[in-house]
Amino acid sequence: MRAVKKQDLPTKICTVCQRPFSWRKKWEKVWEEVKYCSDRCRKEKK
Ligand SMILES: [Zn+2]
Repeated sequence: MRAVKKQDLPTKICTVCQRPFSWRKKWEKVWEEVKYCSDRCRKEKK
């Protein structure tokens, strides 16, 4: 059995704060649509 390393996770750049963020379990179904690193940034987006 092979554990997935954190550095193997996909990453994106948040469109609001311009910081990289990593894949999270809660996004596994919607990763293609994720644009923000957090709910806070999502709310910042006008
Ligand atoms: Zn952000």
